[in-house]
Amino acid sequence: MKGKFPVEKFAQLRTPFYYYDTELLRETLQTINREAGRHEGFCVHYAVKANANPKLLRIIRQAGLGADCVSGGEIEAAIKAGFPSDKIVFAGVGKSDWEIELGLANDIFCFNVESLPELEVINELAAARGKTARVAFRINPDVGAHTHANITTGLAENKFGIAMRDMETVIERAHELTNVSFVGLHFHIGSQILDMGDFQALCNRVNDLQDQLERHHIRVDNINVGGGLGIDYQHPNRVPMADFKAYFDTFAKQLKLRPGQLLHFELGRAVVAPCGSLITRTLYIKEGASKKFAIVDAGMTDLIRPALYQAYHKIENLSSEEPNDVYDVVGPICESSDVFSKQVDLNRAHRGDLMAIRSAGAYGEIMASQYNCRRLPEGYISDDF
Ligand SMILES: *Cc1c(COP(=O)(O)O)cnc(C)c1O
Repeated sequence: MKGKFPVEKFAQLRTPFYYYDTELLRETLQTINREAGRHEGFCVHYAVKANANPKLLRIIRQAGLGADCVSGGEIEAAIKAGFPSDKIVFAGVGKSDWEIELGLANDIFCFNVESLPELEVINELAAARGKTARVAFRINPDVGAHTHANITTGLAENKFGIAMRDMETVIERAHELTNVSFVGLHFHIGSQILDMGDFQALCNRVNDLQDQLERHHIRVDNINVGGGLGIDYQHPNRVPMADFKAYFDTFAKQLKLRPGQLLHFELGRAVVAPCGSLITRTLYIKEGASKKFAIVDAGMTDLIRPALYQAYHKIENLSSEEPNDVYDVVGPICESSDVFSKQVDLNRAHRGDLMAIRSAGAYGEIMASQYNCRRLPEGYISDDF
C-alpha cells in the first residue's frame, strides 16, 4: 500500500519539495485535543522547531495549541502565525539578550530558564523595562530515554537544564529577585520516544521533586513535561498517527498533579512528522558492481535526518507499479553520508520517477541547508492543489 498523492499535479512542480497532507494534520490535531481534553488541566503546545512552515503553523494555531519556541526567530514565526503571546513559551540553553528582550516586549507566557546566570540576566533585562518575567526552571531529571543518543536530552551528562540538587537554590533565588516570578518546572527527556515506560520514569521523578518542594512549602503552578512522543516511521500508511491516548493516559495515571496545577506538553514530531513527505525525482539508475543506486534530486541538504541520526524513512516510488527491485537511494551531495536508505525494495525505478520519502514533516524542511549552493526546497500543503 502506498500513500495518497496527487501525482499528476506534482508533474509540473520543481523537485525536490515537501508535501504536507493537511487532512491528516487536522485529524491529528483533533485527536490531540480530544485525548488531552479528557484530562483536567492538560495544555498542549506545539514545538515550533519541528517545522515552522507558516501554512502549517496557522493550522496548528487554529486548533488552539500554544507555541513552544527555542529562539527569537521562532517567537517571531509564532507571533506572525497568530499564536497569542500568552500561549508562547521560550526554552533554550543559550538565550541571547535580544531574544530575551523580544520575549519581554511581547509579554510571553513564560521563559524556561536553564541556568542561574540566565535567571540573573532575565531579571536585569526585565527590570530595565519595568516588567516582571514569568520563569519556569528546566530541571534535568536524569531520566534516560530509549532513543538515539543524539536526541536524548534528560541525562545528567547532557547540556540541558539545571541539576536537581540545585532546584531549590534557583527557586529561592527567583523569589529574592524583584523582576521575575517563579511559575513552574519544566522537563524534556528526549525525542522519538515510543516506550511509555520512559515517560512513566519522568512522572516518578516529577512526583519525587514535587514532594520535596512541598516539604519546603514551595508552590508550583505549572508543570511542563516537554515533548518527545515518537511515531511509527516503518508503517506510515497503516499507523499514520502517534498513540496520543496512551501518551496522555500515562501522565494522567502516573503524574500526581496538585489541585489547580496545569500540566503542559510540548509536542513537535508527533504533530507534524506523519503528514509530510519529501517528493523527489529520480535522476539516474546506476548499476554498481554489486548493487543498484537510485540517484535522486533530493539530498541531505533537504532532509538531513538519515545522515545525522541514521534515521529511517520509508520510500515509495510513486510513478511505477512494476515488480520490485532493490536499490540504495542516494542524493547528489558530495558526502558519502548522503544516503536516504540502503537496500530498499521499490517498484522498479526509471529516470524521471517521483519518489516519496515519507514521515518527513518534522525536522525536515526546517533543517534544510544550502550546502553545495543548493536551493532550499519549497513546501506545499494539500490545500494548495
Ligand atoms: C525539541 C523539543 C520539544 C519537542 O520534541 P519532539 O520530540 O519533537 O516532540 C519539546 N520541548 C523542548 C524543550 C524541546 O527542545
